[in-house]
Amino acid sequence: MAPVEKAKGALPGEFTLIEEIFAPLASDAPEAFALKDDAALYRASEGYETVLTVDAIVAGVHFLPDDPPESVARKLLRVNLSDIAAKGATPKGYLLVTAWTDDTCFDWIKRFAAGLAEDQERYGISLWGGDTVRTSGPLTLSLTAIGELPQGTMLLRGGAHPGDDIYVSGTLGDAALGLEVLRTRLGELSREDAVHLVRRYREPEPRCSLGPRLRGVASASLDVSDGVVADLGHLCGQSGTGARIEMDRLPLSDAARRAVEGQPELLQLIVGGGDDYEILFAAPPERARQVAAAAAEASVSVTRIGEVRESGEGVRLVDRAGQPIPLKQLGYRHF
Ligand SMILES: [Mg+2]
Repeated sequence: MAPVEKAKGALPGEFTLIEEIFAPLASDAPEAFALKDDAALYRASEGYETVLTVDAIVAGVHFLPDDPPESVARKLLRVNLSDIAAKGATPKGYLLVTAWTDDTCFDWIKRFAAGLAEDQERYGISLWGGDTVRTSGPLTLSLTAIGELPQGTMLLRGGAHPGDDIYVSGTLGDAALGLEVLRTRLGELSREDAVHLVRRYREPEPRCSLGPRLRGVASASLDVSDGVVADLGHLCGQSGTGARIEMDRLPLSDAARRAVEGQPELLQLIVGGGDDYEILFAAPPERARQVAAAAAEASVSVTRIGEVRESGEGVRLVDRAGQPIPLKQLGYRHF
């Protein structure tokens, strides 16, 4: 029978998609059997154990429908690699589930796969398997990342003690501000600053070089996805502690600093906006030098932003004089 003529950009069948688009992403991985079997087969290295995490992203919720497909691919992969890094593990491979809508065209998928291919190279990982389905919408993508680390060394949320220092990698608030740029809700910004903030929203930078260096150094760790105050609350909740962080110590990029100078109410996005994908961790004061060494070796900036306190003190954001800054005043809604 003659093949049915497809409209330009229309989706080919599932098997063609797998063969043309996804199998090349698995070609380096013996675990994946070229995507020709029912399951992947993976054995962690001797003395190591496996860390697994999954995150889904939905068009209109976690990314904008007109975001470039390459960026959507990077965001999907990197939000998962961020969790792997915050647990102290090294990523090895991933599984992918895609639910395409009737609007998804073949070119979009090709560009999406090109974004994955570039990041695979960058992070030394491969596609090991997955599934591809259709949905009435919205476009939904789910990725399971698999990493490994020496047995018994995973960095947990619960493990911080009163007196530990609290640190965060990189800078906070860029992604939340970047989303405001895309929604055209920000005041005047230079083009350069706008581009920087939007890139931080679309393409987080998982701290894969830092996370494994925090094993045996950090007492507790997680990545910042909900906002620094909320995620610190998660860490303290699991550790049975409180915490105090200082507003003035929160690391801001030059672009974020300039945006906040013009509109101080944007500070609420710095502490509560989320999507930062930085590592937030605690470490005893006597390990301060090891923290600094880990940051230097990883070429990632790390800033001390406060300290772990007794649980009765709750999680507080304070000003330079140590006075609590009411989160409500910042428009923060989670409390
Ligand atoms: Mg996380």
